[in-house]
Amino acid sequence: MPSPRTRGTALRQRLAELRGAGTAARALDARALAALAANPGCRRRAILDGAGVDKAALAGALGAPSVFGQSQFALTRGNAFEAKVKADGGAELLRLVHERLDPRAEPPRDGTVPDLSAQGPEGRVARTALALREATEAGGWTLLDHPLLALEVAGSPAFLEPDAVVVHPDGGWTVVEIKSFPMLDGSADPAKVGAAARQSAVYVLALEEVAARLDPAPRVRHRVLLVCPKDFSNLPTASAVDVRKQRAVTARQLTRLTRIQDIADTLPEGVCFSPELPAGELTAAVEAVPATYAPECLAACELAFHCRSRSRAQGAVTALGRSVRAELGGLGTVDDVLAAAHGEAGDPDDPAVAALRRAAALRAEALETAGPAAVAAREAVCP
Ligand code: SF4
Repeated sequence: MPSPRTRGTALRQRLAELRGAGTAARALDARALAALAANPGCRRRAILDGAGVDKAALAGALGAPSVFGQSQFALTRGNAFEAKVKADGGAELLRLVHERLDPRAEPPRDGTVPDLSAQGPEGRVARTALALREATEAGGWTLLDHPLLALEVAGSPAFLEPDAVVVHPDGGWTVVEIKSFPMLDGSADPAKVGAAARQSAVYVLALEEVAARLDPAPRVRHRVLLVCPKDFSNLPTASAVDVRKQRAVTARQLTRLTRIQDIADTLPEGVCFSPELPAGELTAAVEAVPATYAPECLAACELAFHCRSRSRAQGAVTALGRSVRAELGGLGTVDDVLAAAHGEAGDPDDPAVAALRRAAALRAEALETAGPAAVAAREAVCP
């Protein structure tokens, strides 16, 4: 039986083949991980993310470009805001953490910002773990600027880089997320805050793995600090966000992901997702991996337009939404649903089939009562 090290090397080689010769792997960030955890049944996304495929480039090559990504202007503005928040040794950032999360602690007068540079991702992860341990033992306030954390996802390591982690004088650790969307009168767009909370929950999980290796294990705080521009200015303001729920959901979903190795083993030899390949070949490669499309994918995955059109072409009811899918039990396509409603298929004792037949009978009755003119008008609108 091959050793874990040999198996790891073989998997890395296989994933490099899937990505395409000479194509650098795209790092799996917390945003991608949170989206992956939101749709744990999708093997397509799991293998593409696990192999480090550039899904935006792949979607473009498939002829269904994504609408993801920030403009260069937004990126530049976001970077400038983050630099401002962390200026002067992170004095303002530490002040916000103290004010919003730990007001009883001593005020941060001269916080420490350790150097986290090291060779390669593994080196940076080790350097971060050492800096966290030293800061916890030393007491006082410490700001870790862009630390690197590792989290095992579906049997493969993912490297995650929060904007910052703060070590409190009592040894507790807090994740800090810096976003460039505004906080107006103390509150921000709930959808954006929700996305930031899911992202932060992934960092909390990764930090907990580091903490678990220390004795005694430091407390990883489940209230993170979200820093945004205040109103329409460039001044930072912050809000504490409780991510306990997002942390619990993400942890549960990540354990449900199929192992990348198992998905890779089911793919035929020669399958490759390189965006350099012709569209027909790429489509066949992507279709070789099952997907579970849902409308929520439109806000979370670069391949959403491609998967939506395939799902619609197959008449899959998942394209109508997860709640509709759940109501329909074992009926997987629109044709199955219509056949069940018209009494041509399906078990009459199945509650979904019985409800569909009742709905079809009510509809027929309503149209009959309304008379031929209403039926003609109805057919003209919806033939
Ligand atoms: S868009 Fe496609 S690949 Fe992405 S999560 Fe949805 S079904 Fe999976």
